[in-house]
Amino acid sequence: MSKATVMAVVNQKGGTGKTTTCENLGIGLAREGKRVLLVDTDPQGSLTIALGHSRPDDLPVTLTDLMAKVMQDQPLAPKEGILPHEEGVELVPANITLSGLEVSLVNAMSRETVLKQYLETVKDSYDFILLDCMPSLGMLTVNALAASDQVLIPVQANYLSAKGLEQLLQTVNKVKRQINPKLRIEGILLTMVDYRTNFAKEISTLIRDTYGRRLKVYDADIPRSVRAAEISAEGVSIFKHDPGGKVAEAYRSLTKEVMANAEKRRKHQLDQLR
Ligand code: ADP
Ligand code: MG
Repeated sequence: MSKATVMAVVNQKGGTGKTTTCENLGIGLAREGKRVLLVDTDPQGSLTIALGHSRPDDLPVTLTDLMAKVMQDQPLAPKEGILPHEEGVELVPANITLSGLEVSLVNAMSRETVLKQYLETVKDSYDFILLDCMPSLGMLTVNALAASDQVLIPVQANYLSAKGLEQLLQTVNKVKRQINPKLRIEGILLTMVDYRTNFAKEISTLIRDTYGRRLKVYDADIPRSVRAAEISAEGVSIFKHDPGGKVAEAYRSLTKEVMANAEKRRKHQLDQLR
């Protein structure tokens, strides 16, 4: 059985839709029959909360414990710390203790690949593993990039920080050169697009013009909608909260694109083996 495709959802700017995208792309993939693991790598635990665990600090086992065990060469029980969710995905939760672990990583052996070593122990059980990253380019984000096959970058369409994006692309390239040669940017996802304003259309066009030649920008844009903002408190995805709405439709399209790209790559790899 083939191993999971690992995707980091990254942007060092906060509030660009990383967590919302992890949740809804992950559940979108599960709805298409894929086996999906979501990993919260943000000490804020927003993804953990969004999936219904309103008090992450009370959870007995989180990513902190799993990474600590890897660092100490201790064995992991099957599915240790992995929580099921009613919509078919599974979750490795996080809480504030992860920021302490990030500090201890600095002096650890193979400090950039601790998360990768953990994921190696579970990869066979999934088709997709999505990593929700924190808003920084620190050690935890480097660990996420080192563990990933691909990167999805959500960019808020009403705020164009080209400089921030350049810095992120530099970090991705550095990890690719030094640690993880197979890492590739899968695409930029425009989020919170407000179609009622011309401004949003202009930014959308600007990003496609600026980066479209170098990077793929997903055909699917995620519209801004209060329905999307509501789900972070509901513990369920947009597919459950507002199945007929435009945000659900957009995440459905994104899911199809991500699956089509994965399928293309798989075919390409098979062709190369022949
Ligand atoms: P990040 O993880 O990058 O910080 P979030 O996914 O947490 O970003 O989104 C930031 C805020 O915007 C949250 O309050 C979330 O509920 C809200 N939000 C996310 N996507 C949308 C959307 N499409 N429309 C409106 N609000 C959104
Ligand atoms: Mg987040």
